[in-house]
Amino acid sequence: MTASPDSPNKIPVAVLGATGAVGQRFVQLLAGHPWFELSALAASERSAGRPFSEVANWVIPGDPPAGIGEMVVRPLEPDLPARIVFSALPSSVAREIEPAFAQAGYAVCSNASAFRQAPDVPLLIPEINADHVHMIQRQRQVKGWPGLLVTSPNCTCTGMALPLKPLDEAFGLRRVFAVSMQAISGAGYPGVASLDILGNVVPYISGEEEKIEQEARILLGSMHDGRRVEAGLTASMQANRVPVLDGHTVCLSLGFDRAPTVERATEVLRDFRGPELVRTLPSAPERPILVRSEPDRPQPRRDRDAGGGMAVTVGRVRTCPLQDLRLVSVSHNTLRGAASGSVLNAELLVAAGYVER
Ligand code: NAP
Repeated sequence: MTASPDSPNKIPVAVLGATGAVGQRFVQLLAGHPWFELSALAASERSAGRPFSEVANWVIPGDPPAGIGEMVVRPLEPDLPARIVFSALPSSVAREIEPAFAQAGYAVCSNASAFRQAPDVPLLIPEINADHVHMIQRQRQVKGWPGLLVTSPNCTCTGMALPLKPLDEAFGLRRVFAVSMQAISGAGYPGVASLDILGNVVPYISGEEEKIEQEARILLGSMHDGRRVEAGLTASMQANRVPVLDGHTVCLSLGFDRAPTVERATEVLRDFRGPELVRTLPSAPERPILVRSEPDRPQPRRDRDAGGGMAVTVGRVRTCPLQDLRLVSVSHNTLRGAASGSVLNAELLVAAGYVER
């Protein structure tokens, strides 16, 4: 379990839930990764023992990477030839499986919601809260795991929290009112029935609003004595499913301690880069936040792939008659909001010394 047999300088990694919408993104991204070598795919009993091409209905643009189709999908047993495992499992499955992998010595990078709010588990967007990764020290004391577990936020929360962080630091964010328009790929595969979503908007996604409100407080929180302290933020979220394939849009109204001008807020968003350590990671986009000035941007079809799907695009920054500022953000839900964000978390684990190179 130390190095990849095919590429001795790369860290062997596995994907749990490899056949699903997020799992397929992992498979695609990891094929050309400079530090990681994809060495195992795992999924449910339905898929285990069969070649990936037989059990995964490839739903993302492009073809599966060469050689992947023949890889035999393995069951979810913690005996995979890997040191890092990326989990794209349903939350109910992740709740049982992810601790078992951490207990068996794996570094688990999860996309599921099962442990995002657990007090000893980092919830990471490296550009805005890389210091939360050090919660692992306490996690090791409390859990006694030889491995570790870190999580990525809800995909809609990611596209919101990234631009909120620099605004919070500059002006003291107090209140967030947000309305999302979430793509159907956010519900996985096969996800929402076509008869429910085509030509329609569904103003309900089970559990989503509560998750986003709480995760925003966690992500914007700070570290004190190795523990995370949540931000004192009031958030009101309304989540909608819309007939868009990929890319979540969020319309935000924000209230601050010190109301910024539109020019100053735009400047703060444009100048944001994140910490030096994170900027050097292979999956980090050159600019995590892009600001558009056109009156009709951002749009999911045009802006979700910005920065290789890792940049959050913000636009329509303007004053708000209810609070201080309004803006719109668009982010790619299965890339920045899931697989690519999780790969960036794994790169941070390596750079911060929690996974050996
Ligand atoms: P999905 O398309 O439904 O894929 C689920 C995966 O989990 C499949 O590989 C499936 O394998 C496996 N699985 C299902 N039931 C299982 C079981 N009982 N035992 C073992 N494996 C099982 O879902 P997804 O959209 O990729 O989402 C995966 C996770 O990421 C979820 O927790 C989701 O909340 C989270 N997430 C999703 C997004 C997004 O935009 N979609 C964004 C952020 C986070 P089989 O094919 O063998 O059934």
